[in-house]
Amino acid sequence: MSKYWSDLVSELKPYVPGEQPKMPNLVKLNTNENPFGPSPKAIAAIKAELNDGLRLYPDPEGVALKEAIAEYHVDFGISPNQVFVGNGSDEVLAHIFQGLLKHDKPILFPDISYSFYPVYCGLFQIESAVIPLTDSFEIDPNDYKRDNGGIIFPNPNAPTGRYLGLGHIEDILQSNPDSVVVIDEAYVDFGGDTAIRLVNDYPNLLVSQTLSKARSLAGLRVGFAVGNPELIEALNRVKDSFNSYPLDRLALAGAVAAFEDKQWFEDSCNGVIRERERVTKELEALGFEVLPSKANFVFTRHPDHEGADVAAKLREQGIIVRHFNKPRISDFLRITIGTSDQNNALIKGLAAL
Ligand SMILES: *Cc1c(COP(=O)(O)O)cnc(C)c1O
Repeated sequence: MSKYWSDLVSELKPYVPGEQPKMPNLVKLNTNENPFGPSPKAIAAIKAELNDGLRLYPDPEGVALKEAIAEYHVDFGISPNQVFVGNGSDEVLAHIFQGLLKHDKPILFPDISYSFYPVYCGLFQIESAVIPLTDSFEIDPNDYKRDNGGIIFPNPNAPTGRYLGLGHIEDILQSNPDSVVVIDEAYVDFGGDTAIRLVNDYPNLLVSQTLSKARSLAGLRVGFAVGNPELIEALNRVKDSFNSYPLDRLALAGAVAAFEDKQWFEDSCNGVIRERERVTKELEALGFEVLPSKANFVFTRHPDHEGADVAAKLREQGIIVRHFNKPRISDFLRITIGTSDQNNALIKGLAAL
């Protein structure tokens, strides 16, 4: 606290990002980064931008990237004016909260969900009502049939990894024609089906995605949203009142190349999915309960061991996983799927406990 702070800043409860430890040789399975690395074509495209051209501002609209994203989703009839791009999907989400979810009525999101949502509500002074997941940690569409100022949840959900089928998403969209329904698809490429295919049927649907997870570019900071041009226009208005150049020249070049390299992307996602299935079986063999996951992590608990305790003991072995000290999930660990060597180290470490 300081007398120089605004009242708003004094009251903020900021998001705490997963730890990025400096020690070398850690098995780092705590922040859902992709172990297979970005497309070499993306790296080459970034290197090609490292020249005198950096004296010039980047394209404020990111047109080349919007075109690449529209082209990637051409089967769903997406055009560039239905795409918004930003500095990581966290920034895109911030603009969504401010531009599309701030109304008189409270917005709805699950009790166990991405912990940035309540932080944005604090920053932008948005009322919220938290909807409990079912006992099996699923979203029940019937719980979202009540008066609201908007709806947002990740699909697959984080940190549970559970995926909600598009039929249920359509149910929520149809029950809420006067609200924007935001589907945060940070993890959809690891086995889920994207709601982008529904965008042309529902003017109230906005889908956000990131290049941080499936495209392994967390360090580049690129995210995007796809929806009706009317919704996209709201985001452009917020962006151009905040930062006209959210994506620099390197990020734009790397992101375009990442979208063009479909083969690398698909191989990487398949590699994560294969390892996820293997890790799940091995955890179950050790007596862990593992929620069904369509993400690049698993959410798991052991009936005889406390989550915090297991996380602390893994840490002593140089293996970092994420534990949330929160109601309902304090027994659980969220474990990112790593390379097969990292996953072997994890299983060996847990077996030793
Ligand atoms: C990782 C993550 C994001 C943020 O991604 P960035 O593009 O890196 O900002 C958004 N939503 C969820 C649910 C995530 O897990």
